[in-house]
Amino acid sequence: MNLPVPDSNGPDWAVFLDVDGTLLNLAEHPDDVLVPDGLLSLLICLKRALNGAVALVSGRSLASLDALLGAASLDVAGCHGAEIRLNGQASLLGSADAVIPKVAERLAMLSDGIPLSMVELKTHSIAFHYRHQQMDALQARQLALKAIAGQEGRLRLLDGKQVVEILPQGVGKGAAISHFLEHPPFKNRLPVFVGDDVTDEEGFLEVNKRGGISIHVGSSDSTLAQYKAVSVAEIAEWLAGPVCRSLEYNQRKDAS
Ligand SMILES: [Mg+2]
Repeated sequence: MNLPVPDSNGPDWAVFLDVDGTLLNLAEHPDDVLVPDGLLSLLICLKRALNGAVALVSGRSLASLDALLGAASLDVAGCHGAEIRLNGQASLLGSADAVIPKVAERLAMLSDGIPLSMVELKTHSIAFHYRHQQMDALQARQLALKAIAGQEGRLRLLDGKQVVEILPQGVGKGAAISHFLEHPPFKNRLPVFVGDDVTDEEGFLEVNKRGGISIHVGSSDSTLAQYKAVSVAEIAEWLAGPVCRSLEYNQRKDAS
């Protein structure tokens, strides 16, 4: 199915983009990803064409995204939405910071000696990375559950591809998209969300509920997304080509 384009007679779009696996090809380690030339200028162009209604919605921290993309002028949900930057103002959606470092420490102890596993303490969340050769998803989840024991009222688990995320309760990509849509310039627009991971499914669900457009990148058959793209390259071509061209055309039409 061809990816959709903005309709000049339809509602204006608000575009939400996951980063790793959606705008950037995945690497063995998150620090090893390569940022394609022109990505930031594409995002800035898109932002201009959408009158500001574009946001990155990522599992990375805000600081990591800014360092990676130089995207300090963009609206961003970092740590799966635990931290939000909207119109230049940073805020937190969850409040579990007091316990997160302790939980990360406990998880590091519990997983000590398991090859290829890693506890990544982000600013406002934790990612427990593992490899299927060493443990399955259920075992990884059980370890993470042990690590948050006693804090279930403040923290939640979210499964991803060979990763279990530990997030503040109430935080996720669906909640982050919902938060953006309550505020200008996103308010009253049709949400469009593009993502590649299991952790993006909550975003797809939120967007579908609102009659928006959900796009999954990759080969998974079990997704709530309405559209499928095969690769990061296809998304970049779609954004730079059909999407930007339609938006520019619509803007010219509105101005004439
Ligand atoms: Mg991703």
